[in-house]
Parts: sequence; C-alpha cells; structure tokens
Amino acid sequence: MKAAFLGFGEIRVGGERITRDVELRNVMAVLPGRSPRRIYVSGHYDSVARLPAKPGAPAEGGASAFDWSAGDNPAPGVDDDGSGTALVIELARVFGQSGIDFDATLVFIAFAGEEEGLVGAKLHAQRAEAEKIPIEAVLNNDIVGGAVGGDGVADGASVRVFSEGPEDSSSRAIARAVREAAALYVPSHAVRLIARHDRFGRGGDHTAFNQHGFPGVRFTESKENFARQHIVDDTFEGVSVPYLARNARVNAAALAVLGLAPPAPAVVDERGRPRLGRQPSGYDAHLQWSASPRAAGYVVYWREAWSPDWQHSRAVGNVTDLVLSDVSIDDFVFGVAALDADGHQSVVAAYVNPPRAEVPIKTLP
Ligand SMILES: [Zn+2]
Repeated sequence: MKAAFLGFGEIRVGGERITRDVELRNVMAVLPGRSPRRIYVSGHYDSVARLPAKPGAPAEGGASAFDWSAGDNPAPGVDDDGSGTALVIELARVFGQSGIDFDATLVFIAFAGEEEGLVGAKLHAQRAEAEKIPIEAVLNNDIVGGAVGGDGVADGASVRVFSEGPEDSSSRAIARAVREAAALYVPSHAVRLIARHDRFGRGGDHTAFNQHGFPGVRFTESKENFARQHIVDDTFEGVSVPYLARNARVNAAALAVLGLAPPAPAVVDERGRPRLGRQPSGYDAHLQWSASPRAAGYVVYWREAWSPDWQHSRAVGNVTDLVLSDVSIDDFVFGVAALDADGHQSVVAAYVNPPRAEVPIKTLP
C-alpha cells in the first residue's frame, strides 16, 4: 500500500477561526486500483474543545452553554471526530492488508481543519475538481462512536446516512448503495437514510465535495449527545467501541462492493440527455445505456415516481438496451446498475427528467 502523508499540498490559512498562520495537512493513504476512479472514506482529525459553561451562563444554540474564554484546553475529540478518524485508519489497515485487487482506487483520508470551516476538505475538493479527478463517492464519517443520545435514548444497532437531494442525485444513489451493501453484509446493523444534506444548521467535509460536484454522504451516530460535542468532555466515556466497530463494518461493506464493482453505466447521451424513450409502441419504456467496462451484466430498477426507494428490479444479462412494454416513462423512475462476474453491483444510474429551460416571453412596450 502506498501511503501519501500529504493531501494535495500544505494549507496555510489565517482567518476568523484560525487566529494565526498555521500549516495544516490532510493525512491520506491511497490503495491503487485497476482504474483511476476513486472512492473515499473520510473523517477529520481536528477538534474543538471548549470548557463547560460557568453556572448561570445563558444557553447557546439550544443545546448547552459553553465557556469560550480559554483557547488552549485539552482536546480529546474522541467522538468528534476521533471516531471517524479511527474508522478510517482501521479500514486503511484492513483493506491494505487484504490482498484484494479492487477496480476503483480507494482513498483513506483524515481531513484537517474541519471545525474551522471544512478547510482541508474544501482545498482537496477544489483541487480535485480543477484537475478533473474522478471521485465517484465520499463516505464521510463524523461523530460515529456514540450509542446513547443526550436524551438518554440508546441505539447501538443503527447509523444515519445523510445525502443531499434532489431524489435522484448522485449522492442519494451512493446512500442507497450503502444501505444495500449493509443489508447484505452487516444485516444486524440498520442504515437509516436521511434525505437531507446534513442535520439542521450543521455541515461536514462531504459538504465541501458536494459543493464541488462530487457525490458524498455523511455517516453520523443515530443518537447524538450534543452536550459532549465541541467540548473538553468529548472523552472515551461518551463512545462505545463495539458500536463504532459496527459502523466501520458498514463502511467496509460499502467500500468493498463499490470498489469491486464496475463503474455505473452511463444512461445519458453525449449532450447529457437521458437515453429513455417510448418506442416501439409509443407507450413503452425503452431504456438504453452505454456498456460499463468489465461489466458481466446489468440490473434494471424502477419505481413509481413518488417513491424514494427502488420497488422493482430485473437482471437483464449483458445487454445495453431494454424495452418494458406498456410501462409509462412518465409514471416511473428507471435506473441501471452494472454487475461484475461475481455479482458486485455498481451504484444505480437513474434516468432523470431534466428541468425545463425558462423561455422569456417578449411583450410589446
Ligand atoms: Zn465533526
């Protein structure tokens, strides 16, 4: 395994939250695959460590009050985001030692400066966009170790996965693929998909990738304890190692399936239009797609156009064309996934109805 202890150059910033010039470095390890397309698993290794509130201090942000007076406190950051960082390091170790030949290049990365405005992730995503690096998915893990919420409710058997819309965005496709992989390989742990980019008022390193056009999702524990976040009390007492291990297994399943599978087929033409028609009868669903390298077959999915999850699927063999007779393309959403010879499935590429361009009407003066 080739380890690069520098993620796209050094970051020197001086800003509102970074009060003096510092050198920040993302830490990354790359497991080269047969193709340059990349899948990331990430966390952030910086933390915020405020002191608990002084008695009688006004509450802040609805959760708890904090004391900002001292800036140089012990900063354990065990859950936020030591948990995600530990998960990334463990997956780098396991995948690096696996001897498995992946199709995708896998990137294990701990970002710097997340709490200061997604600094490390933004600069990495910005440069990846400029250099046209094919990042197909970012599995971002941030606060994934706590199994008991601040309200006392425990849930050590599920994890939330946030993804930005709209409903057939590339990030939502990743989220569905994560749940699929988890259901197959870690069936005791539930993936709860949340159709939102993140929690209210919050963001994370996946946001930086989304903003630069890359698909990415966020894993966060099911029950958060806000009183332990961004504070010197973010210690080992607030996390469960068995729970974190389960979340690591879910990430491993998704990373391995997506890394082994061929890339998703292209379902649009060279001008970006969906290759979906009503022929031959004028009332059929005629799907066409481009062959995916190394694909041994394809699975076609469809669902009513008022449903978030695929409802029907059909394995169609190694073809790039399918007619579903008497099925309205207006009433259903369709998608295609590629399979390798061992059955590893790509994300589902959906046929999206593009928005109508606005044509202004000219009126007489
Ligand atoms: Zn965090």
